[in-house]
Amino acid sequence: MLFCMETKENSHMHPLTRVINDSTRAFVELRFEVATGPELEDGYHNFDALNVPKNHPARDMQDTFWIKGMENMLLRTHTSPVQARYMENHEPPFAIVVPGKVFRNEATDMTHEVQFFQTEGLVVGENISLANLKWTLEHFLKKLFGDDIAIQLRPGYFPFVEPGVEIDMRCFRCGGSGCPSCKGSGWIEILGAGMVHPNVLRAGGIDPDVWQGFAFGIGVDRIAMLRYGIPDVRLLYSGDLRISDQF
Ligand SMILES: [Zn+2]
Repeated sequence: MLFCMETKENSHMHPLTRVINDSTRAFVELRFEVATGPELEDGYHNFDALNVPKNHPARDMQDTFWIKGMENMLLRTHTSPVQARYMENHEPPFAIVVPGKVFRNEATDMTHEVQFFQTEGLVVGENISLANLKWTLEHFLKKLFGDDIAIQLRPGYFPFVEPGVEIDMRCFRCGGSGCPSCKGSGWIEILGAGMVHPNVLRAGGIDPDVWQGFAFGIGVDRIAMLRYGIPDVRLLYSGDLRISDQF
């Protein structure tokens, strides 16, 4: 399903495939390399190498699918372990984009599924700053939602970045005046990002006194729901051809 770039006449691409393709293309245009990694992960790459504390709730049985009979193995809860693996095997500078499937052991509802898609990004170089992060993500959002977007950065906490930011996009339905899509606020939470935590660089064998980086995680399902006005994430996985026939 990933990277299906063309469709035959009278056929349709699934909305998730469309968003994955368009997102990946937006970063490849900026010379990002596409990287992938295993969906069956070990606890080290999913948590420890990303500075997730031992007592973090994400490690709890509620959130993670641990594999029975395999010690410390799990279905990855985010695409970030690919960052950790890439850093172990590559010297900076580099920029990667990582589209992939992730898994969370939680109840499903309109906005939560046990499997969903993320697109992860990691840039490591010299003199990388939050300004680079903001410009890059603005470029990405313009490619998906048009040139007329506006974003704002708010402080946010993720263990693998410092500082961390939540990025909001001005509501593209009401233009910021407030509507049900943005719950009246005029802004829509769109993704999480930040400057790579020195501990994460160190775990990847990269000297944080020389190199800096930024990282971001994009919820592909959420973007597809916003872009196409899909009200329930479960529709994306229903296998109902009436969904993809519209695209
Ligand atoms: Zn709105």
